[in-house]
Amino acid sequence: MPFTKLQHQLDERAALGLLRSRRTLTSQQSPHISVDGKPYLAFCSNDYLGLANHPQLIAALQQGAQQWGVGAGAAHLVNGHFASHHQLEQQLAGFVGKPAALQFSTGYLANLGVVQALVGKGDTVFADKLNHASLNDAMQLSRADVKRFRHGDVAQLAQLLAKTPSGRKLVITDAVFSMDGDIAPLREVLALCEQHDAWLYVDDAHGFGVLGAQGRGSLAHFGIASERIIYMATLGKAVGVSGAFVAAEQVVIDTLVNLAHSYVYTTASPPALPVAVLESLQLIAQGDGLRTHLFGLIEQLRKGLSNLRWQLMPSDTAIQPLLIGDNKEALTLSDSLKERGIWVAAIRPPTVPQGTARLRITLSAAHTDADVDNLIGALHELAR
Ligand code: PMP
Repeated sequence: MPFTKLQHQLDERAALGLLRSRRTLTSQQSPHISVDGKPYLAFCSNDYLGLANHPQLIAALQQGAQQWGVGAGAAHLVNGHFASHHQLEQQLAGFVGKPAALQFSTGYLANLGVVQALVGKGDTVFADKLNHASLNDAMQLSRADVKRFRHGDVAQLAQLLAKTPSGRKLVITDAVFSMDGDIAPLREVLALCEQHDAWLYVDDAHGFGVLGAQGRGSLAHFGIASERIIYMATLGKAVGVSGAFVAAEQVVIDTLVNLAHSYVYTTASPPALPVAVLESLQLIAQGDGLRTHLFGLIEQLRKGLSNLRWQLMPSDTAIQPLLIGDNKEALTLSDSLKERGIWVAAIRPPTVPQGTARLRITLSAAHTDADVDNLIGALHELAR
C-alpha cells in the first residue's frame, strides 16, 4: 500500500524532530489566545498592529458583507471583480506611491503569479538565499534561470548580474526576512538594478503597516522609489485581514491581469474583505501610536534577553528570532514555554537552514510591557 510509505515518511520526520501538526485556536487572534480551550500568552502571530480582531474591522467586514454579499462567485476576469476590489486597489496604489495595484487572494499566490508572468525561459531571476518559500516556488514555476546570492550579499549579487548579459533580469528579495526579521539592503540592491537594467521585486509582507512613515512600508522606510520596483505586500499580517497586493507601473499590472495564472484562474476573494482592508488602512495611516508602542516592546525584549544563554538574532523589526540551533532543543524549549502558558513557535528546517532552528518570537502592538516581561522572565528561568 502506498500509505505505508507515506506513514514511513512521516515517521522519519518525527524521528528528526521535524513533524508538523496543527493546534486549534478556540478564541480570536490576539496576544491572549485559547488553544484547544487552554489560555496562552502568544508571541507567534504576524498580527503586528493587533488589528486582526479590531472592533472597527469587524464592523467594516459586517457592513461589507451586507453590501456585497459573501462569495465573489467568479474569477476577476469573468464577473467576480467588484467595485470594492477596485476601490481598494486604487487606495493601495496611492498609499505606496505607485500608479496601479492588483489584489491577490494570498501573498503566496501573488508571488507565484508575478514571477511566472514576468519572466520565463531565457530570463534570469536573482534571489536572496533566505527569501520566503513562496518566492522560491515562484522561481521554479517561472522556468527562468535561477541565481541565488548569499543572504544580503550585494557584492555577490553585483557579480551575478554582471555575468548575465541577455534576457530579462528580475531581482527578488524579501524586504523584511520572514524567519530572521532583518531588513534587506534595498537601496544598494536598487542601485544595482539600475546599473544592470534589472527589475526589482520586493516582498514586503512583514514591513507593510509597520515600517516607514504612516506604515507605508519598506520603500518609505528607505525613502526609495523607482519605476523598476514591483512592490508586493500582504493583507493578512499587520493589516489584520487576508490577501495581498502588487503595486507597480500600469503596464506591469496590465500584464499581471493578462498573464498571472494565480490571478486569472481563481475565484476572486470575497468582495466584503476590501471593505475591512480599507478600514485597516485608515488605522494604519493613523497608527503612529501603535508603531511607537511596538518598537518600545522590541527594545524591551532585546534588552531583557541580552544576557541569555541563547542569542536573539540581529533584527530591528517585530520578528525577533531566538537562535537555538538543534531542532529538538528548539521544540523542547517551545514545549516548556507552553507548560508555562506561553506560546512561541519553534521554526525548523526546511523553513530555516539546517542547524539554525529557532524560536520565532513576534511582537504585536497589542502586547503590553507586562506580557513581554513575562516572556523574558520565563526564558531566563528555562535557561538556568
Ligand atoms: N511572503 C512572505 C515574506 C511571507 O512571510 C509570507 C507568509 N508568511 C508570504 C509571502 C505569503 O503570504 P500569505 O500568507 O498571504 O500567503
